[in-house]
Amino acid sequence: MSRVLIIGAGGVAGVVVKKCAMLTEYFSEIHLASRTISKCEKLQAEAGADRVVGVYAVDADDANQVADLIRQVEPALVINVALPYQDLPIMDACLETGVHYLDTANYEPKDEAKFEYSWQWAYQERFKEKGLMALLGAGFDPGVTNVFTAYAAKHYFDEIHYLDIVDCNGGDHGQAFATNFNPEINIREITQRGRYWQDGEWHETDPISVREDLDYPNVGVRPSYLLFHEELESLVKHFPSLKRARFWMTFGEQYLTHLRVLENVGMTSIEPVEFQGQKIVPLEFLKAVLPNPGSLAEGYTGMTCIGTYVTGIKDGQEKTIFIYNNCDHAQCNREVGAQAVSYTTGVPAMIAASMMLQGHWMKPGVWNMEQFDPDEFMNRLNQYGLPWQVEECESPFKR
Ligand code: NDP
Repeated sequence: MSRVLIIGAGGVAGVVVKKCAMLTEYFSEIHLASRTISKCEKLQAEAGADRVVGVYAVDADDANQVADLIRQVEPALVINVALPYQDLPIMDACLETGVHYLDTANYEPKDEAKFEYSWQWAYQERFKEKGLMALLGAGFDPGVTNVFTAYAAKHYFDEIHYLDIVDCNGGDHGQAFATNFNPEINIREITQRGRYWQDGEWHETDPISVREDLDYPNVGVRPSYLLFHEELESLVKHFPSLKRARFWMTFGEQYLTHLRVLENVGMTSIEPVEFQGQKIVPLEFLKAVLPNPGSLAEGYTGMTCIGTYVTGIKDGQEKTIFIYNNCDHAQCNREVGAQAVSYTTGVPAMIAASMMLQGHWMKPGVWNMEQFDPDEFMNRLNQYGLPWQVEECESPFKR
């Protein structure tokens, strides 16, 4: 049986729903639930009611509501593309009802921007005992970047030593300021202190303070800033030979100026403030006035380039490779009415779901993407819209 329940109906969910709907051989029946049912109905109309056969309103902060829905739908797998806050209640519901689980972002508590796998890794024994699988972080970064690293380690190196994950959005959506995925989650992530792994420990940096100007294939040179990103935590655990692991993301001057102003006036804070007799969280209010990332697709031009530089040893020689994907915003819009950031997250989630349902990746417990054999997943990236390249190159990074 390959009936799936998708939770969430935002930018990423739109891509997951439409890609799953195209692939009858992997997904026999799709059910879609989210907080706002009208958004599910809209996606159902776009993907076809013969493929998305049921839509439901659910508050996924409440594990009991999710468990009731799972009992009603009886899926083989829940694909969680709601927000990171819902990860644990949805995992609880999967455990209670005996269903496999997949998500694209690690759990974070709403009142504390803290990105780590500890909460979800703590479910390892419970999933194992029930013979269930949870796959964590199955988007692009985390997700494909973890698989790129595993693929490099398997095919190109005897031992990997230096890892630099680079995420460039070279596109232009024509808005003064907008985020490409959920604004609340995105701004929490990038306003954190930077963090990277070196010589067996984490090192911290001030937010957006370390810059490299990197040359991205088919995009050009872009200022790239060191950030902490969640896949670093699992990758340094699963590849203990890594001496250094870092993550870089591009930001334009206009984006950074807006962000600085918003931070300076307190609009990115997650501390509640009193406003007209009620408590509001400034960042949640900011989200309400910013463009919906799902609405950016029309007229979005240019490409993303996300990839992984890996340096290591092969047959006694040091070498570096760069594995990357370019994704064209306009092409994604033509195919599924989405911009490339939603697309590059939704397609890997669909592929990872297909890998689980077909048994390529099926093992009781809680896993990150790099813990499975990468080859078939890499084939499916080429097949389903995210072709990748490998180049042997000089490392652009200093030691
Ligand atoms: P959106 O804000 O566009 O969509 C989130 C969806 O979740 C909305 O439909 C929202 O409902 C729904 N939702 C929120 N709270 C609840 C709840 N309590 N119960 C049920 N549904 C709820 O976000 P995106 O689509 O941009 O992002 C989705 C996920 O993908 C996020 O976790 C994000 O971190 C992750 N992501 C991962 C990436 C990767 O490469 N790994 C890259 C980009 C994103 P409503 O519309 O009613 O608010």
